[in-house]
Amino acid sequence: MTGRLVLVSTPIGNLGDLSPRAVEALKACALICCEDTRHSGKLLSHAGISGIRLAVADEHRELARLDDVLGLLSSGLDVAVITDAGTPGISDPGMRLVAAVVEAGHQVTAVPGPAALVMALVLSGFDTTRFVFEGFIPRSGRERTDRLTEIAAERRTVVLYEAPHRMERTIADLAAACGGERHIAMARELTKLHEEVWRGSLRGAGQRLAEVPPRGEYVLVLQGAPAGEAATDEQIVTALRTALESGADRRSAIATVMAATGAAKRRVYDLALTIPRDANE
Ligand code: SAM
Repeated sequence: MTGRLVLVSTPIGNLGDLSPRAVEALKACALICCEDTRHSGKLLSHAGISGIRLAVADEHRELARLDDVLGLLSSGLDVAVITDAGTPGISDPGMRLVAAVVEAGHQVTAVPGPAALVMALVLSGFDTTRFVFEGFIPRSGRERTDRLTEIAAERRTVVLYEAPHRMERTIADLAAACGGERHIAMARELTKLHEEVWRGSLRGAGQRLAEVPPRGEYVLVLQGAPAGEAATDEQIVTALRTALESGADRRSAIATVMAATGAAKRRVYDLALTIPRDANE
Protein backbone atom coordinates (compact mmCIF):
# COMPACT_ATOMS: atom_id res chain seq x y z
CA MET A 1 0.00 0.00 0.00
CA THR A 2 1.35 3.41 -0.87
CA GLY A 3 0.25 6.61 0.84
CA ARG A 4 -2.00 9.27 -0.62
CA LEU A 5 -1.53 12.94 -1.36
CA VAL A 6 -4.52 14.64 0.31
CA LEU A 7 -5.60 18.15 -0.75
CA VAL A 8 -7.29 19.60 2.31
CA SER A 9 -9.48 22.70 1.99
CA THR A 10 -9.18 25.17 4.85
CA PRO A 11 -11.35 28.18 5.84
CA ILE A 12 -11.48 31.36 3.72
CA GLY A 13 -12.08 33.43 6.83
CA ASN A 14 -14.23 31.72 9.40
CA LEU A 15 -12.28 29.08 11.31
CA GLY A 16 -15.54 27.27 12.09
CA ASP A 17 -15.51 26.10 8.46
CA LEU A 18 -12.60 23.71 9.06
CA SER A 19 -14.38 20.37 8.76
CA PRO A 20 -13.96 17.45 11.20
CA ARG A 21 -12.76 15.33 8.27
CA ALA A 22 -10.13 17.97 7.42
CA VAL A 23 -8.84 17.79 11.01
CA GLU A 24 -8.82 13.99 10.88
CA ALA A 25 -6.89 13.96 7.59
CA LEU A 26 -4.32 16.48 8.85
CA LYS A 27 -3.78 14.52 12.06
CA ALA A 28 -3.27 11.30 10.11
CA CYS A 29 -0.56 12.50 7.71
CA ALA A 30 3.22 12.41 8.04
CA LEU A 31 3.86 15.78 6.41
CA ILE A 32 1.79 18.88 5.69
CA CYS A 33 2.87 21.00 2.71
CA CYS A 34 1.77 24.61 3.13
CA GLU A 35 2.48 28.11 1.81
CA ASP A 36 3.51 29.67 5.08
CA THR A 37 4.42 27.67 8.17
CA ARG A 38 3.50 30.49 10.59
CA HIS A 39 0.07 31.03 9.05
CA SER A 40 -0.72 27.30 8.88
CA GLY A 41 0.80 26.70 12.32
CA LYS A 42 -1.89 28.96 13.80
CA LEU A 43 -4.67 27.05 12.04
CA LEU A 44 -3.27 23.72 13.25
CA SER A 45 -2.97 24.86 16.84
CA HIS A 46 -6.55 26.21 16.68
CA ALA A 47 -7.62 22.72 15.57
CA GLY A 48 -5.59 21.03 18.30
CA ILE A 49 -3.18 19.41 15.83
CA SER A 50 0.44 19.14 16.92
CA GLY A 51 3.54 17.13 16.19
CA ILE A 52 3.10 16.96 12.39
CA ARG A 53 5.97 18.18 10.26
CA LEU A 54 5.24 21.27 8.13
CA ALA A 55 7.12 22.01 4.90
CA VAL A 56 6.89 25.03 2.63
CA ALA A 57 5.58 24.29 -0.88
CA ASP A 58 4.54 27.76 -1.99
CA GLU A 59 4.00 29.33 -5.42
CA HIS A 60 7.76 29.51 -6.10
CA ARG A 61 8.80 26.24 -4.47
CA GLU A 62 5.82 24.00 -5.10
CA LEU A 63 7.96 21.06 -6.21
CA ALA A 64 10.88 21.73 -3.87
CA ARG A 65 9.69 18.93 -1.54
CA LEU A 66 8.76 16.48 -4.26
CA ASP A 67 11.45 13.89 -3.41
CA ASP A 68 10.47 14.04 0.24
CA VAL A 69 6.76 13.72 -0.66
CA LEU A 70 7.30 10.78 -3.04
CA GLY A 71 9.51 9.03 -0.47
CA LEU A 72 6.79 9.26 2.19
CA LEU A 73 4.06 8.12 -0.21
CA SER A 74 6.18 5.13 -1.27
CA SER A 75 6.59 4.10 2.34
CA GLY A 76 2.81 4.10 2.82
CA LEU A 77 2.43 7.45 4.59
CA ASP A 78 -0.08 10.17 3.67
CA VAL A 79 0.99 13.73 2.82
CA ALA A 80 -1.43 16.67 3.08
CA VAL A 81 -1.43 19.91 1.07
CA ILE A 82 -3.02 23.04 2.50
CA THR A 83 -2.78 26.70 1.50
CA ASP A 84 -3.34 29.95 3.37
CA ALA A 85 -7.05 29.81 2.56
CA GLY A 86 -9.57 27.75 0.65
CA THR A 87 -8.97 24.93 -1.77
CA PRO A 88 -5.40 24.07 -2.79
CA GLY A 89 -4.87 24.33 -6.55
CA ILE A 90 -7.41 27.15 -6.98
CA SER A 91 -5.28 30.27 -7.63
CA ASP A 92 -2.96 28.64 -5.10
CA PRO A 93 -0.21 25.98 -5.10
CA GLY A 94 -1.34 22.37 -5.57
CA MET A 95 -1.77 21.81 -9.30
CA ARG A 96 1.88 21.00 -10.07
CA LEU A 97 2.26 18.76 -7.04
CA VAL A 98 -0.87 16.79 -8.02
CA ALA A 99 0.44 16.34 -11.58
CA ALA A 100 3.85 15.15 -10.33
CA VAL A 101 2.34 12.70 -7.82
CA VAL A 102 -0.10 11.30 -10.42
CA GLU A 103 2.83 10.95 -12.84
CA ALA A 104 4.74 8.98 -10.19
CA GLY A 105 1.78 6.60 -9.92
CA HIS A 106 0.49 7.48 -6.45
CA GLN A 107 -3.08 8.14 -5.32
CA VAL A 108 -4.41 11.65 -4.85
CA THR A 109 -7.56 12.53 -2.94
CA ALA A 110 -9.10 15.62 -1.35
CA VAL A 111 -11.07 16.76 1.64
CA PRO A 112 -13.36 19.28 -0.06
CA GLY A 113 -14.41 22.48 1.63
CA PRO A 114 -14.38 26.28 1.27
CA ALA A 115 -13.50 27.91 -2.05
CA ALA A 116 -14.24 31.62 -2.44
CA LEU A 117 -15.21 31.21 -6.09
CA VAL A 118 -18.02 28.74 -5.36
CA MET A 119 -19.47 30.77 -2.50
CA ALA A 120 -19.43 34.01 -4.54
CA LEU A 121 -20.93 32.30 -7.59
CA VAL A 122 -23.89 30.86 -5.71
CA LEU A 123 -24.51 34.15 -3.89
CA SER A 124 -24.37 36.22 -7.11
CA GLY A 125 -27.88 35.35 -8.24
CA PHE A 126 -26.56 34.79 -11.79
CA ASP A 127 -26.75 31.64 -13.88
CA THR A 128 -24.79 28.90 -12.10
CA THR A 129 -25.51 26.15 -14.61
CA ARG A 130 -22.54 27.15 -16.77
CA PHE A 131 -19.71 29.34 -15.58
CA VAL A 132 -16.04 30.11 -16.21
CA PHE A 133 -13.37 30.74 -13.59
CA GLU A 134 -10.76 33.28 -14.70
CA GLY A 135 -8.87 33.65 -11.39
CA PHE A 136 -6.64 36.75 -11.38
CA ILE A 137 -6.57 38.33 -14.85
CA PRO A 138 -3.23 39.60 -16.24
CA ARG A 139 -2.26 42.94 -14.71
CA SER A 140 -1.27 44.86 -17.82
CA GLY A 141 -0.45 44.98 -21.51
CA ARG A 142 -1.74 43.04 -24.44
CA GLU A 143 -2.46 39.95 -22.33
CA ARG A 144 -4.86 41.94 -20.17
CA THR A 145 -6.60 43.54 -23.16
CA ASP A 146 -7.05 40.19 -24.87
CA ARG A 147 -8.41 38.60 -21.72
CA LEU A 148 -10.87 41.47 -21.14
CA THR A 149 -12.09 41.18 -24.71
CA GLU A 150 -12.60 37.42 -24.32
CA ILE A 151 -14.42 37.92 -21.02
CA ALA A 152 -16.70 40.56 -22.57
CA ALA A 153 -17.83 38.09 -25.24
CA GLU A 154 -18.24 35.14 -22.84
CA ARG A 155 -21.84 33.91 -22.62
CA ARG A 156 -21.32 32.00 -19.38
CA THR A 157 -21.11 33.61 -15.94
CA VAL A 158 -17.49 34.64 -15.27
CA VAL A 159 -15.84 34.46 -11.83
CA LEU A 160 -12.71 36.51 -11.13
CA TYR A 161 -10.43 37.06 -8.16
CA GLU A 162 -9.01 40.53 -7.57
CA ALA A 163 -6.84 42.30 -5.01
CA PRO A 164 -8.50 45.29 -3.30
CA HIS A 165 -6.01 47.86 -4.62
CA ARG A 166 -6.74 46.80 -8.22
CA MET A 167 -10.53 46.69 -7.91
CA GLU A 168 -11.29 50.15 -9.28
CA ARG A 169 -9.10 49.70 -12.33
CA THR A 170 -10.52 46.24 -13.06
CA ILE A 171 -14.13 47.40 -12.72
CA ALA A 172 -13.38 50.36 -15.03
CA ASP A 173 -11.72 48.06 -17.60
CA LEU A 174 -14.60 45.57 -17.44
CA ALA A 175 -17.08 48.42 -17.95
CA ALA A 176 -15.08 49.62 -20.97
CA ALA A 177 -14.97 46.13 -22.45
CA CYS A 178 -18.52 44.93 -21.62
CA GLY A 179 -20.46 48.20 -21.48
CA GLY A 180 -21.55 49.86 -18.24
CA GLU A 181 -24.95 48.12 -18.17
CA ARG A 182 -23.63 44.57 -17.72
CA HIS A 183 -24.39 43.21 -14.25
CA ILE A 184 -21.80 42.21 -11.69
CA ALA A 185 -21.70 40.97 -8.11
CA MET A 186 -18.82 42.10 -5.90
CA ALA A 187 -18.54 39.58 -3.04
CA ARG A 188 -16.21 40.68 -0.26
CA GLU A 189 -14.95 39.28 3.02
CA LEU A 190 -16.92 36.06 2.56
CA THR A 191 -17.59 34.12 5.79
CA LYS A 192 -16.07 37.03 7.79
CA LEU A 193 -17.56 39.73 10.00
CA HIS A 194 -17.89 42.24 7.16
CA GLU A 195 -19.22 39.83 4.54
CA GLU A 196 -21.10 41.73 1.84
CA VAL A 197 -22.35 41.06 -1.68
CA TRP A 198 -23.01 44.17 -3.79
CA ARG A 199 -25.05 43.53 -6.95
CA GLY A 200 -25.70 45.96 -9.80
CA SER A 201 -24.37 47.28 -13.09
CA LEU A 202 -20.66 47.75 -13.85
CA ARG A 203 -21.29 51.49 -14.01
CA GLY A 204 -22.91 51.34 -10.56
CA ALA A 205 -20.01 49.22 -9.25
CA GLY A 206 -17.55 51.94 -10.30
CA GLN A 207 -19.62 54.56 -8.48
CA ARG A 208 -19.89 52.34 -5.42
CA LEU A 209 -16.09 51.89 -5.24
CA ALA A 210 -15.59 55.66 -5.60
CA GLU A 211 -17.89 56.19 -2.61
CA VAL A 212 -16.73 53.25 -0.48
CA PRO A 213 -13.06 52.45 -1.19
CA PRO A 214 -12.41 48.72 -1.60
CA ARG A 215 -11.18 46.89 1.49
CA GLY A 216 -10.64 43.21 2.21
CA GLU A 217 -10.82 40.28 -0.17
CA TYR A 218 -13.04 40.29 -3.26
CA VAL A 219 -14.51 37.88 -5.76
CA LEU A 220 -16.15 39.39 -8.85
CA VAL A 221 -18.96 37.53 -10.58
CA LEU A 222 -19.85 38.92 -13.99
CA GLN A 223 -23.09 38.09 -15.74
CA GLY A 224 -22.50 36.41 -19.10
CA ALA A 225 -22.94 38.30 -22.38
CA PRO A 226 -26.62 38.33 -23.41
CA ALA A 227 -27.41 35.17 -25.40
CA GLY A 228 -28.31 35.44 -29.03
CA GLU A 229 -27.54 39.14 -29.24
CA ALA A 230 -24.87 40.28 -31.61
CA ALA A 231 -22.41 42.86 -30.27
CA THR A 232 -23.62 46.43 -30.82
CA ASP A 233 -21.55 49.02 -32.70
CA GLU A 234 -20.97 50.76 -29.38
CA GLN A 235 -19.59 47.56 -27.79
CA ILE A 236 -17.31 46.93 -30.75
CA VAL A 237 -15.97 50.50 -30.67
CA THR A 238 -15.44 50.25 -26.89
CA ALA A 239 -13.56 46.97 -27.30
CA LEU A 240 -11.44 48.48 -30.10
CA ARG A 241 -10.60 51.53 -27.97
CA THR A 242 -9.66 49.31 -25.00
CA ALA A 243 -7.33 47.27 -27.23
CA LEU A 244 -5.75 50.38 -28.80
CA GLU A 245 -5.29 52.11 -25.45
CA SER A 246 -3.44 49.06 -24.17
CA GLY A 247 -0.90 49.35 -26.96
CA ALA A 248 -2.26 47.00 -29.64
CA ASP A 249 -1.85 48.22 -33.23
CA ARG A 250 -4.97 48.60 -35.37
CA ARG A 251 -4.56 45.32 -37.20
CA SER A 252 -4.28 43.25 -34.02
CA ALA A 253 -7.02 45.27 -32.26
CA ILE A 254 -9.36 44.44 -35.16
CA ALA A 255 -8.39 40.75 -35.06
CA THR A 256 -8.90 40.53 -31.28
CA VAL A 257 -12.32 42.20 -31.43
CA MET A 258 -13.42 40.02 -34.36
CA ALA A 259 -12.46 36.88 -32.45
CA ALA A 260 -14.17 38.04 -29.27
CA THR A 261 -17.42 39.30 -30.78
CA GLY A 262 -17.79 37.12 -33.85
CA ALA A 263 -18.46 40.31 -35.84
CA ALA A 264 -17.53 40.40 -39.54
CA LYS A 265 -14.15 41.84 -40.54
CA ARG A 266 -15.65 44.54 -42.76
CA ARG A 267 -17.86 45.82 -39.94
CA VAL A 268 -15.07 45.90 -37.32
CA TYR A 269 -12.71 47.50 -39.85
CA ASP A 270 -15.26 50.23 -40.70
CA LEU A 271 -15.91 50.92 -37.03
CA ALA A 272 -12.15 51.13 -36.41
CA LEU A 273 -12.03 53.89 -39.05
CA THR A 274 -14.41 55.99 -36.91
CA ILE A 275 -11.84 56.10 -34.08
CA PRO A 276 -9.44 59.02 -34.58
CA ARG A 277 -5.84 57.99 -34.96
CA ASP A 278 -3.57 58.73 -32.04
CA ALA A 279 -0.56 60.96 -32.75
CA ASN A 280 1.69 58.01 -31.80
CA GLU A 281 0.15 55.60 -34.27
N1 SAM B 1 -7.54 28.93 -2.84
C1 SAM B 1 -8.44 30.02 -2.55
C2 SAM B 1 -9.88 29.57 -2.81
O1 SAM B 1 -10.12 28.37 -2.82
O2 SAM B 1 -10.75 30.40 -2.98
C3 SAM B 1 -8.07 31.28 -3.31
C4 SAM B 1 -6.71 31.81 -2.99
S1 SAM B 1 -6.30 33.25 -3.89
C5 SAM B 1 -4.57 33.38 -3.54
C6 SAM B 1 -6.92 34.54 -2.88
C7 SAM B 1 -8.10 35.26 -3.52
O3 SAM B 1 -9.29 34.53 -3.30
C8 SAM B 1 -8.36 36.64 -2.91
O4 SAM B 1 -7.57 37.64 -3.54
C9 SAM B 1 -9.83 36.83 -3.23
O5 SAM B 1 -10.01 37.22 -4.57
C10 SAM B 1 -10.36 35.40 -3.04
N2 SAM B 1 -10.79 35.19 -1.65
C11 SAM B 1 -10.23 34.39 -0.74
N3 SAM B 1 -10.92 34.45 0.42
C12 SAM B 1 -11.93 35.31 0.24
C13 SAM B 1 -12.98 35.80 1.06
N4 SAM B 1 -13.11 35.42 2.32
N5 SAM B 1 -13.86 36.67 0.52
C14 SAM B 1 -13.74 37.07 -0.75
N6 SAM B 1 -12.75 36.65 -1.58
C15 SAM B 1 -11.86 35.78 -1.09
